[in-house]
Amino acid sequence: MKRFVLYNILFLLVLSLYSQPKPIKNVIVMIPDGTSTSLLSVARWYQHYLDPSQNNLNIDPYIKGLLGTCSSDAPIGDSAPTTSCYMTGQMSQTGFVSTYPVKTDHDILPVDATRAYQPLATLLEASKQMLHKATGLVFTCEFPHATPADCAAHSAKRSKYDRIAPQMVYNMVDVVIGGGVSYLTPEYQDFLKNHNYQVFLNDRQGMNDCPKAPFWALFNETSMPYEMESDLKVTPTLSEMTTKALEILSANPNGFFLMVEGSKVDWAAHDNDGKAAVTEFLAFDRACQVAFDFAKRDGQTLVVVMPDHGTGAVTIGNAKSNRGYDKKSLQELMSPIDDYKLTTWTMSEKLKEADTTEWPALIEKYYNVQISDAEIQYLQTAKDYAKSPIPKEQRKQNISMERMLSQILYGRTYFGFTTFGHTMENVFYAMYHPQDEVMTGFVTNLQMHDYLCRQLHLTDSLPKLTSEIYADHHTVFSGYTTRIDSLAPNKMVLVVKNKKKTLEIPSYTNYVTLNKQKIELSSVVVYMPENKTFYLPKNLVRYLEEK
Ligand SMILES: [Zn+2]
Repeated sequence: MKRFVLYNILFLLVLSLYSQPKPIKNVIVMIPDGTSTSLLSVARWYQHYLDPSQNNLNIDPYIKGLLGTCSSDAPIGDSAPTTSCYMTGQMSQTGFVSTYPVKTDHDILPVDATRAYQPLATLLEASKQMLHKATGLVFTCEFPHATPADCAAHSAKRSKYDRIAPQMVYNMVDVVIGGGVSYLTPEYQDFLKNHNYQVFLNDRQGMNDCPKAPFWALFNETSMPYEMESDLKVTPTLSEMTTKALEILSANPNGFFLMVEGSKVDWAAHDNDGKAAVTEFLAFDRACQVAFDFAKRDGQTLVVVMPDHGTGAVTIGNAKSNRGYDKKSLQELMSPIDDYKLTTWTMSEKLKEADTTEWPALIEKYYNVQISDAEIQYLQTAKDYAKSPIPKEQRKQNISMERMLSQILYGRTYFGFTTFGHTMENVFYAMYHPQDEVMTGFVTNLQMHDYLCRQLHLTDSLPKLTSEIYADHHTVFSGYTTRIDSLAPNKMVLVVKNKKKTLEIPSYTNYVTLNKQKIELSSVVVYMPENKTFYLPKNLVRYLEEK
């Protein structure tokens, strides 16, 4: 009898071990940049208009709630601090890429003035350095742009690509696919190739044939084309890039962390270009399906989809439909954009090249719109129209030509926008978790970060990693003689000496030299010109300590 009970207990124990859900191994974060919640319904209806059998977006079954996103000092966020907050757990300021903010007199939460400009370790950095996961970035902007930079670089100025680009290279992300060939200098390419990376520049076939990590695949000199204008023989879709990244990253036995950004939803929304915003979002939504399908097959993958903020508040319903909105058919609301074949950005480039006498024919050809003389006059007042007969001084407060063109084109439709900038609205979030351990309802950016940390088993780890790899050089080398040399703009070297040894620490790289001998680090060194401080691993001092 005793033995029988024992066997039964053993049997149940073994059974419970086997039926125990496996913990999350892989995390995919999908960010449609600048996607207003109102854009979701426009995209869903537009898709239904094109194909009446389509009633849903791919994200629809996974939408869980609303997400509050903001900067440390403003309710309306900028891309750099908003994704920084998801990645680091610290709200920050406009322009700040995963960097601690400066204290202001209008902070939303208390800010510690003594930590200003400190780089903050990201989920991607922690996944790589602490969990030995593979890491990946997929995006359609150029690679040093705010959102991908938020994952793998640190800067108080998002526009300083010569500080950000090297960090993204030297941070040794396993798979990087996106835009920005012109920013990957020969020096960076050499570094990557010397570290067993394959580098594909405008080589879609090469990328698709690549059997393993690590690799970089970049397309276009700067950002990738909008999907509605993309030549699919040359440029991969976001879905294709996501598929490739997942195929390669999933080979790592420790799992992976992947961030996929639909970068140019935001750019289209900034231009109030309705069709570009809708089609760019639908392209992103198709990439989400790739991630959901992978996660369902895999059983150990979490997918989180969340914009960083709203832009433009793109919707259907404007001054033209103040009255009679309830009488408009779907056909009436959507068909005006059927004939809009180019983004206003690309068209404005064409108009700037052409003679003004050719403008009506060009606009007729690409939009089936007859433009008035007054509208031709208006376009010539654009701030960025170099050939304008109106002096530059009188135009500099005006908007750009693509935005003027959007006003002209979308003024003929029922599309509405509230701003050329970002909005304060709450954005949506969607999640797939194999055991349905999801969040629901309204959550904040900080709660979203904490959730991601819990799922990655990184709770409390990021502040520890930050203090280990981004310690300020004044503290680390107190008592030593230090000097900062400038080799070139944004190429600085911290030189630290004792009697016998010289440690040289270049900015934005992952190596130091000790008496000219190169030593590689597992993180990047960041120099912040704003406070003339290097942020580096605190254990570097051991190279100088006397034995
Ligand atoms: Zn953004």
